[in-house]
Amino acid sequence: MKTSHIINAAQAIQQAILNNESTLESLDREIGDGDHFINMKRGANTIVEMQAELATLTPDAALNKIGMKLLSTIGGASGPLLASFFMSMGKTLKENGDDSQLKIAAAFAAGVQAIIQRGKADIGEKTMLDVLIPVSNQLVLLAAQNCETQKICTSLTSVAEAGMLSTKNLIATKGRAAGLGERAIGHIDPGAKSCQLMVEAVCKRILLEA
Ligand code: ADP
Ligand code: MG
Repeated sequence: MKTSHIINAAQAIQQAILNNESTLESLDREIGDGDHFINMKRGANTIVEMQAELATLTPDAALNKIGMKLLSTIGGASGPLLASFFMSMGKTLKENGDDSQLKIAAAFAAGVQAIIQRGKADIGEKTMLDVLIPVSNQLVLLAAQNCETQKICTSLTSVAEAGMLSTKNLIATKGRAAGLGERAIGHIDPGAKSCQLMVEAVCKRILLEA
């Protein structure tokens, strides 16, 4: 992994978030407080603005820096959760190295575990984890099989999509939507949607580079 890959991924994520303003905003208006797009936009813009500084760092240090910055820039529930993902991913890469798909997959999985621990949520609770847990599991599985990058990216894009859609018919048991009970049914979770968009954008970018 190179720091330039992380910067390219951040640019791709920024575009995906900006292109989906109305979707993200209306999803969070339906079952939240309507600020999810603003939160994600602020986070993505801040990271892209840091690209010159990030370029001087190793990948693990860049991810740690991204996490620390998100902690202070994204508000809401999603800020600290996404921050802990990047900090934990950076820490794991620092400890284990970043020179194989398997190590990158393990670091991604550690990032998802950090979200689980911080938010005390799991799969099936109508949150971003309904995308991130299946994506992480699939990434670890395919990396262990030494699957080629193109195949991994195609697979993760569809796993993310399925996870995002799965939130539609769930009752929320964590986050703001938890107070809505059955009224949350029929609405996709905004954090799951933004995570699906991020996975899709990064995979697309990797495919372009491959
Ligand atoms: P807030 O809910 O504070 O307004 P955002 O709108 O930015 O913050 O983010 C809402 C998203 O955060 C939800 O759609 C959900 O995916 C995610 N979320 C909320 N609580 C948790 C949690 N405990 N664990 C994982 N994800 C969560
Ligand atoms: Mg919100």
